[in-house]
Amino acid sequence: MHELGIVEGWLSTARQAADGHRVKRCRVSVGELAGVDFGALDFAFQAAAPRFLGTDQAQLAVTRVPARLRCAGPGGCGAEYAFAEQGAICPRCGATTPEWISGLELRLDSIVIDEQEPPNV
Ligand SMILES: [Zn+2]
Repeated sequence: MHELGIVEGWLSTARQAADGHRVKRCRVSVGELAGVDFGALDFAFQAAAPRFLGTDQAQLAVTRVPARLRCAGPGGCGAEYAFAEQGAICPRCGATTPEWISGLELRLDSIVIDEQEPPNV
């Protein structure tokens, strides 16, 4: 389950960024084609969060990023389109040499900390 490794990376970063404050929420962006199971991601977060953050109250807020492509390469027309609807074929010119705009993200965007709680030193 590689979701655990991903989540542990986020949690490690979140712990450092929180600098001793209690982490209430981790906001992440996950691309539709990043190759993760969203259910497994949530499960892994709940399982690993207490070990990193010292609380089982932290939440994972996931923004799903749709997969989008831009028509590129020699002769590409530059059109942008949704992978889900078109696959890798440009709907405008039919070229098959797109580049990814989004959809592969696995990114910790921000954390929310509880500023009421004094830092645990
Ligand atoms: Zn095109």
